[in-house]
Parts: sequence; structure tokens; C-alpha cells
Amino acid sequence: MATTPRDYYHILGVPRTASPDDIKKAFRRLARQYHPDLHAGAKKAEMEKKFKELNEAQEVLTDPDKRKKYDQYGADWDQAQAFEKARQQARTAQGFGGPWGGEGDYTGQGSGGSGSDHFSDFFENLFGNRGRGGTGRSSSGMPGEDIETEVHLGLREVLTGVIKRVNLREPRTCSTCQGSGTVRGRSCVTCQGTGMTAEYKTIEVRIPAGVQDGTRVRVAGKGQPGINGGKRGDLYLHVAIPSDPIFRRQGSDLHVTLPIYPWEAILGAEVTAPTLAEPVKVKVPPGSKAEGKLRLKGKGLPSATGGHGDLFLTLQIVLPAGISEDERGLYERLSKQRHPDPRTELLYGAQRR
Ligand SMILES: [Zn+2]
Repeated sequence: MATTPRDYYHILGVPRTASPDDIKKAFRRLARQYHPDLHAGAKKAEMEKKFKELNEAQEVLTDPDKRKKYDQYGADWDQAQAFEKARQQARTAQGFGGPWGGEGDYTGQGSGGSGSDHFSDFFENLFGNRGRGGTGRSSSGMPGEDIETEVHLGLREVLTGVIKRVNLREPRTCSTCQGSGTVRGRSCVTCQGTGMTAEYKTIEVRIPAGVQDGTRVRVAGKGQPGINGGKRGDLYLHVAIPSDPIFRRQGSDLHVTLPIYPWEAILGAEVTAPTLAEPVKVKVPPGSKAEGKLRLKGKGLPSATGGHGDLFLTLQIVLPAGISEDERGLYERLSKQRHPDPRTELLYGAQRR
């Protein structure tokens, strides 16, 4: 079976001089990106392929012996390996107990890539060997990766602070096949042969009042599990506060458009205006102008300095939707009053263009 040459260093995005540690790190980063459980649809198939390639690359490059062979033979390293293996098997009837594991690993697939039974190894390397007792690995623990996710807050939640439930997916060894990807020689149905399933977890995170849009909240120890006893990574929540059509944010200040009738503007009125808490009574002063602003001190969002911003009401003069005969009469009386032409300035300005 012909395969395209695979450059393992390229797959992992590391230089040929990369240290084993660099290779492990690169692998872990990409594995999380490619993991098939984290993708759906057409992307999943693509990611499965990439994930296998990646797994194969790390398996070779993290094994000093295999890496040496790969560096020596290049893309044909596994054929060279198979050749050596065959030669060795010819020498000993007991087969080959080394890291190549079960028989048929190369005979069945040629150089077509690693079988799914490598996923268990991958899994142990990446997520620790939970639920299966120690394997006697002596390497020191590596801390787990950090998780980054986004939380959306409503403005009332910003005002009061909130406990948010955050849903996380955490890869787990498939319990059906114990991570081997196969059950009695067949691809495992539970995990579709990947050896892994996703576990959904919900954690509660307290977000303090007055948090700003774009803030990164760190939740220590809620990231991915460490490897070989390494500590868990951290969870980072990116706080997103979507813009609100009623309460427009400007720092810790809020802006609300407040509709008023013409007579309320002219005569003044006491009207009810919304705030993030209870609605409040507001005095519209007599002679108010359209687009005039009223300020409600301290009714904005909590500010970084500990106080509160203000809530600004922008007056918008509106007409009643329908009018009665009486009202028509009043408008007629109004129209007979002498007023300066409100278009004078516009017409004057337009001529100077
Ligand atoms: Zn399975």
C-alpha cells in the first residue's frame, strides 16, 4: 500500500532538534486540538485522520530508538522497522515483546498508519492512567493543560455577580474497550474505535459583580488532569458581555433612550424610567429638549474602582400613535400659532454646500 511520506516533525510542528519534552508538549497541544471527540460532522473524519497521524508521529519521536530509526530511514522507517522485526522474529520463535505490541500491527496495515490500539497508549500519556492502577511509569508528573472557555453574562448578572454553571468536556478512556478501541477484534461501538469518550462535567464558578467585558477569570485546578500525578491545569473563563439593546454600555455607565411626549418635554413630567434594578420615578424638567440627557447617579454598573457608574436617559420625543378628534382640534389651534420656520437653518445651510 503506497502512502505519502509523512514528516513527523512537520506533523508535530517541531524542529528536528526538538527535545523529547518539546515533542511531548507539541503533541499534547495538537492532540487536544484534533481530538475526534471534540469535533462533529465532516470535521470529525478529518480530525480522526490528523489525530492518527499525530499519534503516530509522537509515538515514533518520543521513543529514542524509533526516533533514531526514523531519522535514519525517513518516511520508510516503519518498513525498515518491519523488516528488522521480521528478521528478529525469524531469529526467535517467541516473537517480539517490545513496544510494537500485538502481532499483525504491521502485517495488516502495511505502512498505512497506526492502528487504533495505539490510542490507549496515547490516552495514558495524555490524561494519566486513571482507574487502571499504576503502570510503574517512573517519569515525573506533568501538569495538565489549561482550558479556556467563554461565559456570557447578562447585565443584571454583571450588576450583582453570579454563579455560572460551566459545561466542560473532558476526554476519558472508553470504559467499553478500556481504551483499546477494539472489542473482540471489532472496532468499539461506544467510542468508534478511538479508545476515548467525552465526559461532560458541570462546574459552578462565581463571577464577581462588576466584571468587565473581556475579563479573564482564572479558576485554579479546574483544567485538564495532569499526567503521572502532575497537578491539574487551570480553567480560564473569558467573560463576554453581549451588547444590550436597551442598556447600552459605556465603561461602567449605561445609556437608555427614554421616549417622552411633546407636552411632557414642554411642561415637565414625572415619568417612570427603567434601571437594571427596579424602575425609578424621574422628573423630566419643563422645557426639556429632544436628545437631552438625564443622569441617574450610581445606577450604572459597578466600576473597577469600587463605585458605580451612572445611568443616562436620552430623551426621545415621540408622538401618540393615534389621535382623537379633540386632539386634532388642539393641533389645529397649535398650527395657527406663530412659530419660526424650523427649517430655516437647514435651508440656509443647504445653500452653502
Ligand atoms: Zn471503546
